[in-house]
Amino acid sequence: MIVYTSIKDIQSAIRQHRADGHSIGFVPTMGALHRGHISLLEQSIKENDINIVSIFINPIQFNNKQDLEKYPRTLEDDCKKLEEAGCSIVFAPSAGEMYPEEVKEHYDFGQLEKVMEGEHRSGHFNGVAVVVKRLFDICMPNKAYFGEKDFQQLAIIKALVEQENMPLEIIGCPIIREEDGLAMSSRNVRLSPEERSIAPEIFKSLNWIRQQAGERSIGEILILAEEKLNAMPGMKVEYICIADEDTLMPVQSWDEADNIRAFIALFMGDVRLIDNLKIK
Ligand code: AMP
Repeated sequence: MIVYTSIKDIQSAIRQHRADGHSIGFVPTMGALHRGHISLLEQSIKENDINIVSIFINPIQFNNKQDLEKYPRTLEDDCKKLEEAGCSIVFAPSAGEMYPEEVKEHYDFGQLEKVMEGEHRSGHFNGVAVVVKRLFDICMPNKAYFGEKDFQQLAIIKALVEQENMPLEIIGCPIIREEDGLAMSSRNVRLSPEERSIAPEIFKSLNWIRQQAGERSIGEILILAEEKLNAMPGMKVEYICIADEDTLMPVQSWDEADNIRAFIALFMGDVRLIDNLKIK
């Protein structure tokens, strides 16, 4: 496994691989790797000759300065995990390498960026689109792998690739969970033991929504689920949304769309957690 920090160096290695006819799989991450990230790499390894993982904490996608400062940084440990899992290339650039000049790009994803994460994290998806576009240009993958954990991000990346006519395939991969149901996240290490013991309530709540679907109205479910989560010590719901999986527009009734998914974002203390579950 080779670790690159320079764009020029990784590009010349990738050009050689492409000239040799190797297919390239790519997994962008912000590091502090867990089994969720590794599952994306494993999928990539099954489908490609050369597998690249990027580790870059992208400053321009953080709308909260404290969240950026407190984001876990564990590069050495991450590289060990990636080597064990069979990664070929790690790309770990500095912020100066990725952004030598002021970022000026502005993307428009229409309604897709106006709900949920887009509504609550101003500028977040533009920051994501800018970095992912640059990473795709540098790594030139045939396929790139993203987790359904960030379901809206996956939809935004698919829209980006279509808008920019980029010649690659985006593959969505299932959410990997802890045994108690908590979705794996780099931010979970920031939870206190008490917060960690309560955090699986998020997944329980999503399952409760699935059980109640068809029995109660969406309006009633949203109120009850929010009340229940807010009653947990330290939990503060930011949003619960039941939406059409394809457009991400909120739905008012269960027969409004064929594919429906429930989404939750909440704070546990100052740690922001998100999760989602297919309902229909
Ligand atoms: P991050 O490092 O949080 O930016 O995540 C990098 C990639 O890993 C994104 O495509 C995430 O959706 C994905 N990911 C994060 N957590 C999980 C998880 N628990 N299961 C599956 N994929 C995940």
